[in-house]
Amino acid sequence: MIYDRSNIFARILRGEIPCKKVYEDPYALAFHDINPQAPTHILVIPKGPFCSFADFSAQATEQEITGFIRAVGLVARQAGLDDSGYRLLANHGPDSHQEVPHFHVHIAGGRPLGKMLA
Ligand code: 5GP
Repeated sequence: MIYDRSNIFARILRGEIPCKKVYEDPYALAFHDINPQAPTHILVIPKGPFCSFADFSAQATEQEITGFIRAVGLVARQAGLDDSGYRLLANHGPDSHQEVPHFHVHIAGGRPLGKMLA
């Protein structure tokens, strides 16, 4: 899959459209989901042009992967979710219903989330 530079998260990364930013470092940007599914629903995206987890896991450098994973953990911790718990979710491809073709991890928490894929 070829990366689409016009996707909405690429535009957020370029500052062309706003987001409610919660964290940024050289590897990741985190912001609130525009349509939250839980009291806390944050999206964390890598800075590089990766379409999905499949692309990121295969193509990103070790530094990019480490930096991104550490950012996800830090954002969840800073959101106060370490003790109550949270769910990480990343969609890839049609069966997952991935809507935005820039790799992103959802962090959801702030209430009991029920069983996975309920
Ligand atoms: P996906 O289904 O691709 O895993 O999730 C895409 C997520 O991006 C959805 O939860 C959706 O609400 C969120 N989203 C879509 N467009 C925007 C936007 O312009 N700003 C923000 N903050 N979130 C968005």
